[in-house]
Amino acid sequence: MSDVREYDRKHLWHPYTSIENPLPVYEVIAAEGVRLTLADGRQIIDGMSSWWAVIHGYGHPVLLEALHRQADALCHVMFGGITHEPAVDLARKLVEMTPSGLDRVFLCDSGSVAVEVAMKMAMQYWYALGKNEKKKFLTIKSGYHGDTFHAMSVCDPITGMHQIYQGVLPSYYFADSPQIGFHDDWDNCDLQSFQSLIEKHQQELCGVIIEPIVQGAGGMRFYHPNYLRGVRRLCDQFGVLLIADEIATGFGRSGQLFACNHADVVPDIMCLGKALTGGYLSLAAVMATSEVGKVISSGEPYVFMHGPTFMGNPLACRVAAASLQLLLDSDWQGAVRRLENELKEGLAPCREMESVADVRVLGAIGVVELHSPVDMAEIQQDFVENGVWVRPFGKLVYLMPSFCMSTGDCRQLTSAVVNVLGTRERG
Ligand code: PMP
Repeated sequence: MSDVREYDRKHLWHPYTSIENPLPVYEVIAAEGVRLTLADGRQIIDGMSSWWAVIHGYGHPVLLEALHRQADALCHVMFGGITHEPAVDLARKLVEMTPSGLDRVFLCDSGSVAVEVAMKMAMQYWYALGKNEKKKFLTIKSGYHGDTFHAMSVCDPITGMHQIYQGVLPSYYFADSPQIGFHDDWDNCDLQSFQSLIEKHQQELCGVIIEPIVQGAGGMRFYHPNYLRGVRRLCDQFGVLLIADEIATGFGRSGQLFACNHADVVPDIMCLGKALTGGYLSLAAVMATSEVGKVISSGEPYVFMHGPTFMGNPLACRVAAASLQLLLDSDWQGAVRRLENELKEGLAPCREMESVADVRVLGAIGVVELHSPVDMAEIQQDFVENGVWVRPFGKLVYLMPSFCMSTGDCRQLTSAVVNVLGTRERG
């Protein structure tokens, strides 16, 4: 074992792993385009875009240039009492590209923090209006919103961490998750559970938080745009703010620039992260309507109570602005549509397998749901031996390639999935 992996094995925690009994890790020494180079010299095709983030591929010259130039000028400066062009440039782009009306921008460090910020905004909105009793949230089952405390409290109550942190996590309301798929025929019954909860608890609800159209880490499910439209309508009807968590879906992944666009819904607050910087640095943004901003500023304590040390980090803002420009200047919609077709075609043979419960694709997201959970260490090794990087969780084997992935590479990626799952079934 290399020195790096040996030291890592003893000392480093990885996401959701044991420090005493860690799963094997692979050392990556470089990455370019859609390929990761492992320490032993092998190159493998990345099917994960580093968890939704690396939409333009690794080592993109435009993004590297933006980083280098900004590093020479200003790596970081506090945002309290100071502003700078990278933050303003990024904010201008975000205001222009997000659904119209979202024109107040709060920059923060990561997705989970953006969720905390959004939830605090919803609470402070009603507090400023003197409606102190409106402090609870409604969400839907099978959701995922991050690992910090408030974010955890709105993750799925069964697969999330509610049990461990019982008594400390705030307890909120969970509607049944939508059952009608994105492409299925709509039936209003799907909204029944959500409707009865929002009606019943309207007096104590400050916000609804929801992943629009695509439920990510909570199950990789794609639901019907009418569900989201219904949620917006009910939030308006019962006086509850709508927070759209677009951290995974934002910036084209689902086939629309934002998943809310599938339903022409404008939330009151929107969380962005992951692909915001093209996956080059950690940065998140919370967009809010001017109404939200106005109300928060109009009552006690007259300011929004949040201000992280690295707020508006110039390096991250600069690379984010460059990444957004790259996206808008490209035929991203064509690329995502092509990948959608290639994922559909490439994963289709999985439908015939007995171990497979469902295959679904939306935009540049391909999901193979199995009947039983995979052995992560084994399957990871199989994928690497097949020349690809795919990291399943539970029963879900899923792909979210960079938008720049070529047809040939996408074919290799889906063939590897078919091959690995087929071999495991036969063997
Ligand atoms: N919300 C959603 C929808 C996510 O997919 C994630 C990350 N998987 C988060 C929030 C949390 O983001 P982060 O991991 O950057 O804290």
